Amino acid sequence: MRLGHAPCLGQESRARIAQCSRCDDRLHSVGMDRIELPEYDTVGIRADNPSRLTLQGTNTWIVGRGPAWVVDPGPALDSHLEALTDELERRGGLAGIALTHDHVDHAQATAPLRQRFPAATLAAARGEVDVALEEGSRFGPLTAMRTPGHSPDHLAYVHGRAGFTGDAVLGEGSVFIAPDPGALAAYLDALASLRRRKLAILCPGHGPVIDDPQAKLDQYVAHRLEREQRLVSALSAGHRTVAEMLDAAWSDAPAALRPAAAATLAAHLDKLADEGRLPEGVERP
Ligand SMILES: [Zn+2]
Repeated sequence: MRLGHAPCLGQESRARIAQCSRCDDRLHSVGMDRIELPEYDTVGIRADNPSRLTLQGTNTWIVGRGPAWVVDPGPALDSHLEALTDELERRGGLAGIALTHDHVDHAQATAPLRQRFPAATLAAARGEVDVALEEGSRFGPLTAMRTPGHSPDHLAYVHGRAGFTGDAVLGEGSVFIAPDPGALAAYLDALASLRRRKLAILCPGHGPVIDDPQAKLDQYVAHRLEREQRLVSALSAGHRTVAEMLDAAWSDAPAALRPAAAATLAAHLDKLADEGRLPEGVERP
């Protein structure tokens, strides 16, 4: 099962490159399909796979040059592969590909991209990779950070004061958590650990660049705790079925995102059970 994220809250116009509308800083420009971060010698190329789960599309990040490094090749769309290939050729080729996690919207273009750049090595936390990464592993200019929650294998990458957060932190909305033992507690730890890095910018797997990481991370923690509070209130009110708990604590989730909300509910119930706070007779998703 592939999990996704909250729906897009706003539509960007399809400008090739527009000045960032979210801040006055000239650090970067945000367009529908290119995000320029010259200060980090990084560009984000957005794939044309918009959906409720992928927001405006998946962001592939290209870091450095001579040769360059890729975070998340994205979906295997011809237009996306062409855009990546053009940019990588301008930057003197591809040294390595780092995956934040192995969901198809982030990893599908890995094989076709490696066909085009056979010398590139592949790194991730799991799967058939050349370099298996864990907390603190270095891969070219990137340092891996374990950020489980959305998926058990999830990594973020730090390059200078930029963080590439995949689906751990999105440009808009919140992420869904995959039920896995201890997933939600581990996710909250990961958010705290990202916060301790005092990063200047977050480059997410979907949505716009985040210029105020500390505020965004605080918001993410507050959001999870608010969901938990709503769930605890629903349980106190005697609700025990999945439908009742979702109605009470995820009333804002549209029908299309209900299965993903149910998965996140499972992760929240696991956390309450681990903490001895789950009453008897609760239906599990
Ligand atoms: Zn994704």
